[in-house]
Amino acid sequence: MTPPVLDPEAFRRQAHELVDWMADYLAEVAEYPVQPNVAPGEIRAKLPAAPPEQPESFERLLEDFQQLIVPGLTHWGHPGFFGYFPANTSPPSILAEMLTATIGAQCMSWSTSPAATELEQVMLDWLRQMIGLPDAFTGVIQDTASTATLVALITARDAKVGESESRKVGSVERLTIYTSEEANSSVPKGARLAGFAPENIRLIETDENAALSVGALDHAIAQDKAAGLRPACVVATVGTTGSTAIDPLPAIAELCQRERLWLHVDAAFAGSAAILPEMRWILAGAEHADSLVFNPHKWLLVNFDCSAYFVRDRAALLRSFGASAEILKTAYDDSVVNYRDWGIQLGRRFRALKLWFVIRSYGAEGLQAMVREHIRLGKLFAAWVRADPDFEQIGEAPLATVCFRRKGDDVQNRNLLTRINATGKIFLTGTQLKGQYVLRLALGHLTTTEAEVREAWGLIQELANSE
Ligand code: PLP
Repeated sequence: MTPPVLDPEAFRRQAHELVDWMADYLAEVAEYPVQPNVAPGEIRAKLPAAPPEQPESFERLLEDFQQLIVPGLTHWGHPGFFGYFPANTSPPSILAEMLTATIGAQCMSWSTSPAATELEQVMLDWLRQMIGLPDAFTGVIQDTASTATLVALITARDAKVGESESRKVGSVERLTIYTSEEANSSVPKGARLAGFAPENIRLIETDENAALSVGALDHAIAQDKAAGLRPACVVATVGTTGSTAIDPLPAIAELCQRERLWLHVDAAFAGSAAILPEMRWILAGAEHADSLVFNPHKWLLVNFDCSAYFVRDRAALLRSFGASAEILKTAYDDSVVNYRDWGIQLGRRFRALKLWFVIRSYGAEGLQAMVREHIRLGKLFAAWVRADPDFEQIGEAPLATVCFRRKGDDVQNRNLLTRINATGKIFLTGTQLKGQYVLRLALGHLTTTEAEVREAWGLIQELANSE
């Protein structure tokens, strides 16, 4: 039998049941293995290959969710999840996502949901103030840092090409772009997507701390100019993915001003640390940048996805991304912000709501306390590593991510990582840093405490010693 299209009472019952499941999950997530023990294809094999012809009950759906899906999940909110960078979340953010889904607003234009646009304007200005960017910057939410960087690179490209009267001189094929060899993979990928020739994407060498070498950057720019190429853009990273290294922004900004290059700052993870007065220094120099992105969805308790993108020259952004059509025109277009013109997508989710819920629920001070504690725990863990003669810390650990290795070869360290993750108790990722394989412990979850970090270190030592 076909169920009613909408049965508010059934929805209420089911929603309450789900909220009970959600509350239990948040309370008990530590009891799951962080990563599932499943083989590729195992979950898919249990799912019907074709869609159901007849409606199925909510009860069956919920049962299958628990039986088939949950055992195949990696639990990113597990207090033992120390991999990649966190995608942290929080109860107020989850609740806001429920409202967002319920309202189902599509926020492409001011008039398609005025409150969504105006809340986004206010939220991005709150975030701007929280990280200490000057009010010359205007913000917009992008889905991810990858998209924000792509938006920045397209804008930088168009600004550079548009500078020249002559099409030949201004052509994209001659533009060059610079970032460090430690930049996130989304940067060279974004450069290719923005039309920069792959051979004109320069991955500049880094210093002993994995931060971009300004001397090498300067040299590369001079060489390219001498070869008749047109330097267009530098992407500096504040908090590299590998080891949270911080590129020297003040010197890079000075160089960009001298050479008239677009400076985009990728602070995807680390930007959140700038909400701490004592960590503001990480963004020193960003006041001279043209654009900056950081991810509240990494370290500011806002559910994935939510990236804050700030741009200085709003007109340049609109020149690249503004697009109209008869169906989109409204009587207010001259007096409002239509965020569809600030990025790639036309349709947009109502992401500002979760920012509002989170910032108000914790207050700037609550968020500061969390970030400060994660940085303290990172320093504590690094000190334990340094105190153990069998281990060494690699690179600095300014931002709650510690790179370390067991003294020995790369194979031993890879094996150690496999054994650590196989316990299901904690999960770490590894990477190459300065020519050697390192293990990486990244902190940033709401619920991670000193006790868990201590336990993690004990487990790592135990596994290393039992080899
Ligand atoms: N930039 C840096 C420095 C990152 O560490 C990451 C992801 O970890 C990204 C960009 C990509 O972020 P997103 O997943 O939001 O695209």
